[in-house]
Amino acid sequence: MERTINKIFPHLPERIKGLGYIAYNLWWSWHPEARMLFKMIDRQAWKESIHNPVKMLKELPEKVLQRISSDKDYLKYYDAIYARFRYYTGAKGEWFRQHVDDAESAAIAYFSAEYGLHHSLPFYAGGLGFLAGDHIKECSDLGVPVVAIGFMYPEGYVRQKIREDGWQEGTDEKIDREAAAIRRLLGENGEQLQVEVPFTDPPIHVAVWEVAVGRVKLYLMDTDIEANDPETREISARLYIGDIEQRLKQEVVLGIGGYRVLKTLGIEHSVIHLNEGHPAFAILESIRDKIENGMSFDEALASSRNRAVFTTHTPVPAGHDVFPFPLIEKYFNSYWPRLGITKEAFFELGINPEAPGAGFNMTALALKTCRHRNAVSKKHQEVTEKMWQGLLKSEAPTDGRIDHVTNGIHVPTWLEPKIMLLFNRYLGPDWIEHHDDPSIWELVDEIPDKELWDIHFGLKNKLINFIRERVRKRWVEDRIDPSIAMAEGVMLDPTVLTIGFARRFATYKRANLILHDRERLKKIVNNRWRPVQIIFAGKAHPADSPGKEVLQQVFLAAKDPEFAGRIAFVEDYGEQLAQYMVHGVDVWLNNPVPPLEASGTSGMKASLNGVPHLSILDGWWIEGFNGENGWAFGEEPVDGDRNEADAHALYDILENKIVPLFYKVSSEGVPEGLVKVMKAAIKSNGPRFSARRMVKEYTQKFYKHALKDFPESQRA
Ligand SMILES: *Cc1c(COP(=O)(O)O)cnc(C)c1O
Repeated sequence: MERTINKIFPHLPERIKGLGYIAYNLWWSWHPEARMLFKMIDRQAWKESIHNPVKMLKELPEKVLQRISSDKDYLKYYDAIYARFRYYTGAKGEWFRQHVDDAESAAIAYFSAEYGLHHSLPFYAGGLGFLAGDHIKECSDLGVPVVAIGFMYPEGYVRQKIREDGWQEGTDEKIDREAAAIRRLLGENGEQLQVEVPFTDPPIHVAVWEVAVGRVKLYLMDTDIEANDPETREISARLYIGDIEQRLKQEVVLGIGGYRVLKTLGIEHSVIHLNEGHPAFAILESIRDKIENGMSFDEALASSRNRAVFTTHTPVPAGHDVFPFPLIEKYFNSYWPRLGITKEAFFELGINPEAPGAGFNMTALALKTCRHRNAVSKKHQEVTEKMWQGLLKSEAPTDGRIDHVTNGIHVPTWLEPKIMLLFNRYLGPDWIEHHDDPSIWELVDEIPDKELWDIHFGLKNKLINFIRERVRKRWVEDRIDPSIAMAEGVMLDPTVLTIGFARRFATYKRANLILHDRERLKKIVNNRWRPVQIIFAGKAHPADSPGKEVLQQVFLAAKDPEFAGRIAFVEDYGEQLAQYMVHGVDVWLNNPVPPLEASGTSGMKASLNGVPHLSILDGWWIEGFNGENGWAFGEEPVDGDRNEADAHALYDILENKIVPLFYKVSSEGVPEGLVKVMKAAIKSNGPRFSARRMVKEYTQKFYKHALKDFPESQRA
C-alpha cells in the first residue's frame, strides 16, 4: 500500500502522508472530522472535487501541500485524526467477537449487484444499493468479518438530464476511476489481476478493483478489459442491463465469477449472504467447489444451503429475474454435468412451482438453496410468504419459514454533522457507541426547542442554496431556458413549509399522487399566508417509459406558472442530493401503492435528522409509526380508485395537521408543536431503524447459526 500511495500522490509530503491512506478508505465518508481534514486545506478545492478526497489530493498544487505540512495548527488536527484512523483500521472491532463463538475463524461473503457508498462511487440505482452499503459500513463498525463483492460499472448508473418537455434523457459518461477511492488489484507479476469465470464460452475474464470500507474490503469486478471480446466487455458496462442475455451473463459473472475471485484471492469464507436474487449462482459455484472436493451433489447442496443467507427485497415482479430455459441451457450445459445432475434437475432448482413454465427464476433458486431467508420488514414477510406459498409448501416442514429483518440505516453516514454535534451535547459522550439502545434517545427531550429548530432552519437554507447554485450553474454553462430554471427550484423560499419527495421513479411509488387533484393542490400550495412548496428528485430506469411519463408529469407541473414556482424538480438524484434533502426539508413524503414498498429507507434517514415522515402505512412505517412521530394514511382497504382516496387523505393531513403546526410559532419564532413531532421522530427512529440494530439481528438470527453449519440449527 505504501508504494501505491507514493505512486498515486508523488507530491504528498512525508509529514502528511497519512492523508493518502485516509483518502483511500471510505472511513472518511462517515467521519465528518476526517472530511474536515481535507476541507481545511482548501475549501474551494474541496468543493470543486465534489467532496472527493482522492480527486482533491491529486489536483492540489505541491506548494499548497508543502505549506500545510508545516502549519502547526493543521498538523495538530491531522495527528489526532490520523491516530483515530489507524486505531480504527488497526483494531478488529469488538461486538462480534464478544457475541459469537469462533469469531476468529468466521468469514461471511456478501454478494450484491449494487453498492451505495458515496456519490463519488456511483455504482447504485437506489435503495438496494444503499442498504448494501450501509450493511457493510455497519459490519465494519461492529467487527463483523464480512468481505463484499460486486461490480465496478464503468458507466455507473444513468446520469439524468431533463429535456425542456420534461422527458428524462440519459448521458453516457464514463466514471473517472482514477479519481475515486478505488484501486486496481495487481497480480504477482505487477500486472492487473485477471480472473476467468469458469465454463463460459466465449471465456469471460474479469479485472478486480478494491474499495476499503473501514475494516471491510469490497471487491468489484469489471469485464471491460482487452482479454474479452467486445460484447463481453460490455457485460459490466452499466447497472441492470435491459438485454436479457447480457443480464444473464452479468449474473453469471456476479455469482460464479465473484466466487472465483474470492477463491483466487485466497479469501476464505464459510457463509454466503445474497443481497437479492441477482447473485444466486454463487451458491451453485459453492456446491461445485464441494463436489470437486469429494462430496456428492446432495451432500454439497445440504452443506452450502446451511451456510447460505438470502435477503429478498421487493414484491415487485421486475425485481425478480426470470430467464428463458433455452438461455440457461446455452450458458450452463457444461456446468450441470460438473454438479453431477441432469438438465431437468438443474432447471428444477430455478422453477417456481406456481409458474413452472415461466423460466428459471433467480428468487426461486435462492429460496431453494439458502436455509436462512428473510424479507426486509414485518409486512414484507407476510407478502413474501404469500407470494411464494407454492414453493414453501413443497419444502420439508423442518425448513422453517421466511423470516424478516427490518431494514435500517447507517447512522453515522446519514446523521447530519451539526445534528451529530447537538446529540453529542445532549445524549451523553458515548451515545454513538450505543445508538441502538432506545433508552439513550430519551434524552432528546432535553434539547431546547429553539436549538433544534435553529439548526434545522440552517439546514433548510443550505439545501435551498445548494439547489439554487446548481440551477445557476446550468443557467451559465448550459444556457438553459428560463422556464427550466424555474422548474428546477430558483423560486424556492426557506420560510415556506417544504415537503420532500425523492426516490426512484418506479410507477408504484406514485410520485404524481399529490398532483391527483390539481385544483385542491393549487389551493394548498398557493395559500397566501400559509404556502407550501414541494421538492421532487429521482431517476426513472432508462428502460421504464411509464416511469419517465410520471417524471414528465411532475416536471411539467414544476414548470407550470399556476404552481407559482413552489414545485421544484431537481435533476440527477444521487447520494449527495439525498443527504441535503433528508437533512433539509420539513416533511418527508412517501406514498407507494401498498403493499409494494417492502421497506423503504429514505424516510428513516429523514426521521433521524428530525424530518418527520408523512407516509402511507406500508413497509417499515407500519412498525415505525407510533401516532406522535409523523403522519400516516391509507390504512383502510380501498374499493375503487385507490389514488383518489389516498390523494385526499394526504391533502387532509396537510391542510388540517401539518400546515397549522408549521405556521403556529412561539414568540421566538419556533413552531413548538412541530418540534415535538420532530423530537418524537428522532427518538423512535434512531435506535430501531439503525443498521446497527439490523446487523446485530442478522448476526443473531442467521450468521451465528450459518457459521456453525448445524443442519438442525436451533434458531431463537
Ligand atoms: C436512501 C436512498 C434511496 C432509497 O430510498 P427509498 O426510500 O427506499 O426509496 C434511493 N436513492 C438514494 C440516493 C438514497 O440515498
